[in-house]
Amino acid sequence: MNVALVGEETHPDEWLPLLRERLPDDHFFVHPQTPDPKTVRVALIAAPRPGEVAQLPNLKLMQCLWMGVDALVLDRTLPAGVPVSRMVDPSMVAAMSETVLHRVIEFHRGFHIYRRHQTERRWEHLRQRMASDRTVGFLGLGELGADAAAKLVALGFNVRGWSRTAKSLPGVVSYTGSDGLAAMLPACDMLVCLLPLTPQTRGILSKPLLDRLPDGAALISLARGQQMVTRDVVAALDSGKLGHAYLDVFETEPLPRDDPLWAHPEVTITPHIAAVTEPRTALSVVVENIERVRRGETPLHLVDPAAGY
Ligand code: NAP
Repeated sequence: MNVALVGEETHPDEWLPLLRERLPDDHFFVHPQTPDPKTVRVALIAAPRPGEVAQLPNLKLMQCLWMGVDALVLDRTLPAGVPVSRMVDPSMVAAMSETVLHRVIEFHRGFHIYRRHQTERRWEHLRQRMASDRTVGFLGLGELGADAAAKLVALGFNVRGWSRTAKSLPGVVSYTGSDGLAAMLPACDMLVCLLPLTPQTRGILSKPLLDRLPDGAALISLARGQQMVTRDVVAALDSGKLGHAYLDVFETEPLPRDDPLWAHPEVTITPHIAAVTEPRTALSVVVENIERVRRGETPLHLVDPAAGY
C-alpha cells in the first residue's frame, strides 16, 4: 500500500525509518514526492496546508499524528467522505499525566512560592497540607484527563471531572452538563483543562467559569489556547480569584515576546510541550490502522465530525 506523510509537523526523519522497518512491503513517501498521487491510500497528517491532502484523490484514511484534531475538523479543504483517525499514543498520555502531576503537586505544596522565595534569599516555612485537603477538577475526562485523574486519585487527592457523558472512574466524581459544571467548580482548588477545542469549549475559561472557583485556585490550561479568554484570566489573577495559572497553550503560538503574560508573577508558561507524540509508541496505532484499511475494516480512534473531536 502507498502511504504519504503530508504537510507540516509530520517529522519524516523520525517516522519513515520506523514505518519502513515495521511494514517493509508497503511504500512510504513524503508528499509531494509521491510518484503517483492517485495510488496513495493513507495520508499521515498533523498540520497540513490548505488543499494539500486533496491532491491525493483516492484516500481511504487520513491518520492524524496528533491527539487534538480541531484544526482538521475546521479544514474545509480536506477531502470529503474520507474518515479521520486521531492519535491515541500511550507515551503522550503518560507525558500529559506527568505535566498535570507536576503542576498539581507544585501548587499544592507551594513549590512555586519557594522558587520565588529563593530569588529573595528568604527562608520561610509554608503550612504543609495533605493531598486529601485538596480537590482537583478536570474539564474533560477523555484519554488524557482520565489517566491523570486516576494518578491523582492514587496520590490521595479528591478528584472531580466534567465530561459530555457521565463516567464511572474509581475515585472520580463525575459531572455533566452546565448544571454539573456549576456544581463541580466551587470545590476545585485546582482546575485542569483537557477538553478538545470545539464550538462548545471555545472561550470556556472565562469570567463566569472562573468566578465559580474558590478564591486562590490554580488554573492548569493544557488543551488549546482558544479555550481561554486571556483578559479574564489575567483579571482573575490580579484580583486574587486565581492564585496561579499554568499555561501551556495560547491563542497565538508562539506567544509573542511582548505579551504581558510572560512577566506576570503568577503565570507559569511552557511552549505547548505538555505532551508530544512519541513515534516509537504511536507507531502501533498507525500500523494497526494501515492494516485495518488493507483489510477493509473500520480504523481505530475515528473522529466524530458532528461532535468535533
Ligand atoms: P478525548 O479523549 O477526546 O477526551 C475529551 C474529553 O472532553 C471527553 O471526556 C469528552 O467527553 C469531553 N468533552 C468534549 N466536549 C465536551 C463538552 N462540550 N462538555 C463537556 N465535556 C466535553 O481527548 P484527549 O485525547 O483527552 O485530548 C484532549 C485535548 O488535549 C485534545 O483535544 C488536544 O486539544 C489537547 N492536547 C494538548 C496537548 C499539549 O501538549 N498541550 C497534547 C495532546 C492533546 P466524553 O468523554 O463524554 O466524550
